[in-house]
Amino acid sequence: MSTTQSKLKAAILIVSETASQDPSTDKCIPILKDVFGNSGNDQWDVAETEIVPDSVLAIQKTIRRWTDSAEPINLIISSGGTGFATKDVTPEAVTPLIDRHAPGLVHGMLTTSYAVTPFALMARPVAGTRKQSIIITLPGSPKGAKENLEAVIKLLPHACIQAAGAESRPLHEGGVKKLEQEAGVSYGATLSGANSGHHHHHHHHHGQGHSHGHSAHAAVQPHTKPEDRPQSNDPSAGPTRRYRSSPYPMLAVDDALKLIAEHTPAPIVEKAPVDMKLGGSVLAEDVKATESVPAFRASIVDGYAVKIPSSGKFEKGVYPVAIVSHAQAGDVKELKEGEIARITTGAPLPPGADAIVMVEDTVLKSQTDDGSEEKEVEILTDEIKSGENVREVGSDVKSGDTILKKGEGITVIGGEFGLLASVGTREVSVYRRPVVGVLSTGDEIIPHEREGPLQLGEVRDTNRPTLITAARSHRFEVVDLGIASDKPGTLEQTLREALLKCDIIITSGGVSMGELDLLKPTIERSLGGTIHFGRVNMKPGKPTTFATVPTKAPDGTRISKAIFSLPGNPASAVVCFHLFVLPALHQQAGIAPVGLPKVSVLLDEDVRMDKGRPEYHRALVVARDGAMYASSTGGQRSSRIGSFKGANALLAMPMGEGSLKKGERVDALLMGKLC
Ligand code: AMP
Ligand code: MG
Repeated sequence: MSTTQSKLKAAILIVSETASQDPSTDKCIPILKDVFGNSGNDQWDVAETEIVPDSVLAIQKTIRRWTDSAEPINLIISSGGTGFATKDVTPEAVTPLIDRHAPGLVHGMLTTSYAVTPFALMARPVAGTRKQSIIITLPGSPKGAKENLEAVIKLLPHACIQAAGAESRPLHEGGVKKLEQEAGVSYGATLSGANSGHHHHHHHHHGQGHSHGHSAHAAVQPHTKPEDRPQSNDPSAGPTRRYRSSPYPMLAVDDALKLIAEHTPAPIVEKAPVDMKLGGSVLAEDVKATESVPAFRASIVDGYAVKIPSSGKFEKGVYPVAIVSHAQAGDVKELKEGEIARITTGAPLPPGADAIVMVEDTVLKSQTDDGSEEKEVEILTDEIKSGENVREVGSDVKSGDTILKKGEGITVIGGEFGLLASVGTREVSVYRRPVVGVLSTGDEIIPHEREGPLQLGEVRDTNRPTLITAARSHRFEVVDLGIASDKPGTLEQTLREALLKCDIIITSGGVSMGELDLLKPTIERSLGGTIHFGRVNMKPGKPTTFATVPTKAPDGTRISKAIFSLPGNPASAVVCFHLFVLPALHQQAGIAPVGLPKVSVLLDEDVRMDKGRPEYHRALVVARDGAMYASSTGGQRSSRIGSFKGANALLAMPMGEGSLKKGERVDALLMGKLC
């Protein structure tokens, strides 16, 4: 092994609730560093260490930071969380991150530890590569961690260099013997213990899982280990090779929402003309008025403009009507003392005028000879003050004032649009509203409007029209992507084209565990996307999947786009649209807070809970006597879209036995207007 270049970078991740709270309790980091130092042939630099609690998210985040960076870590060693306690989630966190599994390493570590204690079998290690890094999970006990790392460390430099992308052929020149020599291992020296006398060849190419012997450690034969599975179903492998359980960790709804918030692509800022289409947009910058409202001194009433004499006191009496000012453009003559001007609401005051007397406080005294105009009017009041009934220049909006702030929405109620219109703003910076693509998948799905009776197995497309309607009702532009069949190439092609025209793609169907459920493998394997979650602890909607896919923007820059793959059952798809897709659409449009508003309601009837999962129960919420009451829309089976008929809310029902009783409180997410 050539060690003339720089050293390989290793990182140590401690997974421990206690150590994450008090790092001084950790014993593993120093011990593992020693292993790198003492047994590592001077090839390692422990570049990073981190301590996280037993949390799938925390583990994944740290590992991703190390593997997905421009200068990835070569070897990531975790310690802890590989046992059978319910809090032990390290393998569940690491497995979905692994591109290619390395059962040989797992095998080697177990074999070594098994020689020390049979309880070694009670660890659930995984190992493999992610991008250019190798990841190995060690047990949490310092002794076990040390033994395991020692078992494999000498073998790793070569694999790390290969994983990092080096040509493998030159490395192999000289064959396995040479590799063994350079690594300082000969067969049996490293994988000591259990079968040190057992001579069979150390195959270098890790092809199909060849058996490492038989009798001595038959119990650890790894042929059915979960780590042997690929990251997502390989669609070309057929039904016999698909998963039998989902490899994606089951996330709580709140954790899923956090991942959506974290990974939804950033809003794009664009200039938009101030026109009727602006409703629903959110401002990406402050807007200042460039004009005043009113732009001239205007009358608030219909009446007579008067000039208050220099004495400061206006006298009652009969005055000649010298000027008429209507609400129209054009010059107005100057008003002199002793004269009055008839003026209408909103009309400009004649220069020189000080106040307006309401028409109600006047009487007509005389008219012109032809009777068409007023000649003299008697003003009946002398209690008129300067400025009375006058809207001064800029008294509504002053030129230069900030009239709207960044982040504020142009509602469709109208106020913000009116404000912009009033000062003549012609263009504003807004967050571009994402364009949504909606795709149904499944060979059984036919357009809902197709005439004629159904053939056996055919199902009318319920999801696409429903999801399109739902997205449009929130004023998002929608591209109808049609129906894609369950053939890998078709789906990939459809999604590739959709990624060019849409910002967020919603698919339905094909995320369950069937061998034709292609969404996850297509996103991961064909489109190079990242699945942020593939399972959520909720009913309906468990297989809901959220991914981002790298794409090229029209200007050549790389951006990522979000794909929501919703379950095929219609009620599930619609629940998940409201719960998960809407927040992403809002976030990308700059709308805050995101998602449906949550209110507390009283149950109008008993509502059953689900024993296994929190449930989003379709309901009708009504306002009555100052409170809000909810009743169920009936059967909640996830295939039954009818459970949405008449629904304006989703009740966030906790998991539990029996029912929540009439009169009890529960949170409701409001999808529509209160009835
Ligand atoms: P899948 O997740 O593809 O296995 O679909 C689960 C169930 O939902 C199956 O019964 C499908 O036939 C049904 N389904 C999938 N997509 C649609 C759709 N667009 N409209 C109505 N039912 C659907
Ligand atoms: Mg399907």
